[in-house]
Amino acid sequence: MVSAPIITVDRVTKNFTNPSGEQLPVLSDVCLELCEGEIVALLGKSGSGKSTLLRIIAGLTLPSAGSARIRQTEITEPNASTAMVFQTFALLPWLTVRQNVELGLRARGVSAWERGERVTDAIDMIGLDGFENAYPKELSGGMRQRVGFARALVVQPEVLLMDEPFSALDVLTAENLRGELMRLRAETAFPTKTMLMVTHNIEEAVQLADRILVLDNNPGRIKGEIQVRLPQPRDPRGAGFQALVD
Ligand code: ADP
Ligand code: MG
Repeated sequence: MVSAPIITVDRVTKNFTNPSGEQLPVLSDVCLELCEGEIVALLGKSGSGKSTLLRIIAGLTLPSAGSARIRQTEITEPNASTAMVFQTFALLPWLTVRQNVELGLRARGVSAWERGERVTDAIDMIGLDGFENAYPKELSGGMRQRVGFARALVVQPEVLLMDEPFSALDVLTAENLRGELMRLRAETAFPTKTMLMVTHNIEEAVQLADRILVLDNNPGRIKGEIQVRLPQPRDPRGAGFQALVD
């Protein structure tokens, strides 16, 4: 069954102005659709515009041309349907774990009583119980990223946006957290089934994603797409795939 796209990126171009006033194209004519229930990985070299594209979808940056939509609505600011996990966690060091997780809900105007319940649930769900009152500097990288996930998931977003969420973690910690995310996602009551993940780790993309989009450099544009999960499984790292990533 092919479901309707939740997120549509329609011919998005993004230019940045460098210090000498020149316009630098970072994304050029990027189109993508993210359908309900799928996990898509966005693979590309450093500087290819992956974070910029994710930030546009999160409503944190506006495109120079083209549009990003959530269902029929153009995305012009952060909204309740998406939440983001950042590579370097982006926690506020002067706030406790609990206060960091609560931020996502405060920004969305959820009442104090409901915030309390939902923060506790998110903290338990992601394995942070006992650490509520710790500060980020007291935590390992893996635990900090758990806070990053809790802060995003507490919102119960329809779509989880992840910008290299595991790349700052050591191999085993990353593997644990990936496994835990997938176990949570498999639970019937877990509301966030649709995910867009930026990575430059091919193994990770193949492990988690249904589809991989490859973003080319200078300026970023979608170079190709690899369907990872098919009714008839096949090796996604065949010749065609190598030609795309080389
Ligand atoms: P990636 O995440 O794929 O490494 P980014 O989206 O972070 O790539 O950046 C793509 C390009 O855009 C880089 O050359 C980066 O220097 C430039 N860039 C990103 N954000 C800004 C900004 N706010 N102002 C100017 N240039 C930027
Ligand atoms: Mg990036």
